[in-house]
Amino acid sequence: MSLLDTNLSAFDPVTDPDQAERYLTDWPRDARGRARAILRPRSVEEVAEIVRLSAAEGIPLVPQGGHTGLVEGAVPSPAGNEVVVSLERLNRIREVDPINFSMTVEAGCILANLQAVAAEHDRLFPLSLGAQGSCQIGGNVATNAGGINVLRYGMTRNLVLGIEAVLPDGQIWHGLRKLHKNNTGYDLKQLFIGSEGTLGIVTAVSLRLFPRPTQVETAFLAVSDPAAAVALYGQARRDLSDLLSAFEIIQHFGLELAQEATPDLRHPLETTSSHYVLMEASASGLVDLSGLMQRFLEGVMEAGHVLDGTVAANTAQARTLWRFREDLVEGQARRGRHLRTDVSVPISAISAFLAKVDAGLTAAEPSAIPVAYGHVGDGNLHYNVLPPPGMAEADKPAFLKRCETVIYGALAEFGGSISAEHGIGRAKLGSYLKGLAPAEKALSEGIKRQFDPQGLMSPGRLFER
Ligand SMILES: Cc1cc2nc3c(=O)[nH]c(=O)nc-3n(C[C@H](O)[C@H](O)[C@H](O)COP(=O)(O)OP(=O)(O)OC[C@H]3O[C@@H](n4cnc5c(N)ncnc54)[C@H](O)[C@@H]3O)c2cc1C
Repeated sequence: MSLLDTNLSAFDPVTDPDQAERYLTDWPRDARGRARAILRPRSVEEVAEIVRLSAAEGIPLVPQGGHTGLVEGAVPSPAGNEVVVSLERLNRIREVDPINFSMTVEAGCILANLQAVAAEHDRLFPLSLGAQGSCQIGGNVATNAGGINVLRYGMTRNLVLGIEAVLPDGQIWHGLRKLHKNNTGYDLKQLFIGSEGTLGIVTAVSLRLFPRPTQVETAFLAVSDPAAAVALYGQARRDLSDLLSAFEIIQHFGLELAQEATPDLRHPLETTSSHYVLMEASASGLVDLSGLMQRFLEGVMEAGHVLDGTVAANTAQARTLWRFREDLVEGQARRGRHLRTDVSVPISAISAFLAKVDAGLTAAEPSAIPVAYGHVGDGNLHYNVLPPPGMAEADKPAFLKRCETVIYGALAEFGGSISAEHGIGRAKLGSYLKGLAPAEKALSEGIKRQFDPQGLMSPGRLFER
């Protein structure tokens, strides 16, 4: 059998052009590729068979999860020479072990479904991001996804106990251990986490679970500027200690964008300010979380760190507060093509970094409309830019590239990173390679050659070929 046989019904190929469309692009729809075939295997053995055929015939593959990635990693190459391997049919829960605080699931499981399964067993799977209704755990592992709870629970890297993957020669690596401690040799699973499909195809993962919080306190606070937000964060870490699970900064313009996407959202405070903080603390057990949050808020109001604020009285109110943070992403998308960044700097440098980029953009591209928000507790900022209204579509790519240069240029001074969570894909390849030290480049290329000597796994992502 050839990978390009027209009769590939064993792998559930997509042949209808209308149906194929969603596999050729991803969420932002900035890029569109072409595929030699789109296959949807139903088991790890089928994935292995596809990879074996690809290795024998020298055909490049690109694994695909929920296509919510933001760096064009899962979009097939415009050259049309790649076969898309969608993991969506591998979506079984293999085991939940509440006593071991773990579950083992297939790569195509949707993240929100996994959160629900964990909750059914009175456990928490803490990975949480705006795309959770569509992204798949295999994609989360391949991108080392972050999200709103990194502050307390870490990135996906911290949540994976074991991995099953198909290697580029078609071997199945059975690394699905569910051990919380295992100190035997190299931790090979970590190589797959964040590898963006370049080392093999993840088919299943064992995940770490946590006690399910029974108390959650969500507060929305107005602050005078980013420096006040960072000071507030320091106080929250001290006063709420490990119970703090999310701490987001949002510009006022971000609220307006959220309201453009969801017109029934009402500003939650009497006071308007240039910046707001959305923070959450959660606990299980005997802790008096509500009392703790109240004492913390009284202290920071008295100290003048906070101008105004509200605490959600129930889950529905908390959901509404979170919609400001989540829906602003949709509001940006409605404004059309724009620059998305996910940079990181040390937390202590957030305020100076933002001031530097604001000034740099005003000087270099005064018509740029910045939208800056992000996860303060991780030093991770989405400093995005919308083009001015009326700019011709043809002019936008060069304009946004110039804005990106200003933002990335400021990172060096603060020892920052061009990607805190979205990864490199094809969209950030040039900037990534430029910043890579010779030793890092040589080691990365050596790892890639060891796993994938033919260079057939997701070529052009993370590496030039
Ligand atoms: C509204 C919105 C909000 C977002 N918020 C966040 C956020 O807060 N934090 C964050 O980190 N990201 C965020 N993202 C980005 C995105 O959701 C994540 O990168 C997510 O992990 C991608 O998962 P996916 O299943 O959609 O993967 P895809 O987009 O399908 O693929 C992403 C990459 O992983 C590879 N891949 C996919 N599945 C596999 C597999 N099984 N084996 C090997 N490689 C594979 C692909 O080839 C590609 O390189 C957001 C995206 C959107 C649209």
